[in-house]
Amino acid sequence: MGKVLVIGCGGVASVAIHKICQNAEAFDALCIASRTKSKCDALAEKLGGGKVKITTAQVDAENVDQLVELINKEKPDVVLNLALPYQDLTIMDACLATKTPYVDTANYEPKDNPHFEYKYQWAYREKFKEAGITALLGSGFDPGVTGVFSAYAMKHHFDEIHEIDILDCNGGDHGYPFATNFNPEINIREVTANGMYWENGHWVVTKPMEIKREYDFKGVGMKDMYLLHHEELESLALNIKGIQRIRFFMTFGQSYLTHLKCLENVGMTSIKPILYNGMEIIPLQFLKAVLPDPASLGPRTVGKTNIGCIFKGVKDGKEKTYYLYNICDHQECYREVGSQAISYTTGVPAMIGAMLVMNGTWSKPGVYNVEEFDPDPFMEALNKWGLPWEEDFNPVLVP
Ligand code: NDP
Repeated sequence: MGKVLVIGCGGVASVAIHKICQNAEAFDALCIASRTKSKCDALAEKLGGGKVKITTAQVDAENVDQLVELINKEKPDVVLNLALPYQDLTIMDACLATKTPYVDTANYEPKDNPHFEYKYQWAYREKFKEAGITALLGSGFDPGVTGVFSAYAMKHHFDEIHEIDILDCNGGDHGYPFATNFNPEINIREVTANGMYWENGHWVVTKPMEIKREYDFKGVGMKDMYLLHHEELESLALNIKGIQRIRFFMTFGQSYLTHLKCLENVGMTSIKPILYNGMEIIPLQFLKAVLPDPASLGPRTVGKTNIGCIFKGVKDGKEKTYYLYNICDHQECYREVGSQAISYTTGVPAMIGAMLVMNGTWSKPGVYNVEEFDPDPFMEALNKWGLPWEEDFNPVLVP
């Protein structure tokens, strides 16, 4: 039993907090701290009164002193960072100062440079080792479950994995001409960046949306998908020994792509500050303010997600393929926790990562990605906490 401090109170945090409150076997106390305290209070009011004791706090997660003060006051056994990637390093600094384990779902990204990389957080390895505490990076779905799936495939199904294709399909329809399923600023930065994949020991860079494939997803049907750079490619390229190629594909509908192109063409996705009425504004942040809040999509999103990994490799001298995936229904998620499936598929693994670090199952001093731990307890917890996985031993491969 232990206490978790959740930082951030947006779409993903809301799901993780619901799941923490359902999991009184592991958690006996929870502090929700974020920039806007009223959101934390509203959730505490909705979920309070159960076995998990809830407190709330206001915090600026970019201010290490405020974070240290909060951690010293609340004394959590683990900090679960569900704010934005910009705050990863300040929260890690506060965890180091207070010797508190750290878990997040997205790697650090400097505000003025949309090129995310693990190097900023991997630079903390020695410091966390010396402090004797664990930092678990990327415990969402992708990254997160995709890394756990890779470790599981390696442990149980292959002697060597040569190729991994990560396929992220969202077959959900929210009825808006354009909206993003998680934080619009982070989402648009990700999809407007160059594509990248790992092949034979080096990165191959593509133009945004240059590589398109079609795939028939179980539970969803035929979808167009596009090759993107995604952060787990960087850690899996290092941690899956013998890997020759890793790619990441995400599905997008035509309406999303047409709107995005238009917004890009008129400069609305830019992160360079501009002067507006004598005030500096960042166009992408302004765009975020006029787009639907992802948290509001829950009631109106119908359909399913299907996210997973196709592996190709060798077992006992024979070539083998294997597909591990999860299908999640937007409306079922909404009925259970009041959120759509994108927040759900991230919030559940975030809770599981925090639980495993907190109870010592996944504990080793240093900074680690999910695939560096034993996947079995995580896989078991996915089935128990709402993200059951399915296997296909003869999958259709992506050309
Ligand atoms: P939201 O924008 O819905 O929530 C972010 C929360 O962080 C908000 O509550 C916001 O406060 C809070 N916040 C922002 N800045 C600060 C700050 N300086 N101090 C304190 N709190 C702050 O985002 P999501 O819930 O969609 O995403 C959360 C994280 O999950 C992101 O890092 C995202 O990249 C990651 N993610 C990971 C996925 C995965 O599969 N691995 C998939 C989807 C998302 P306020 O309410 O005031 O705005």
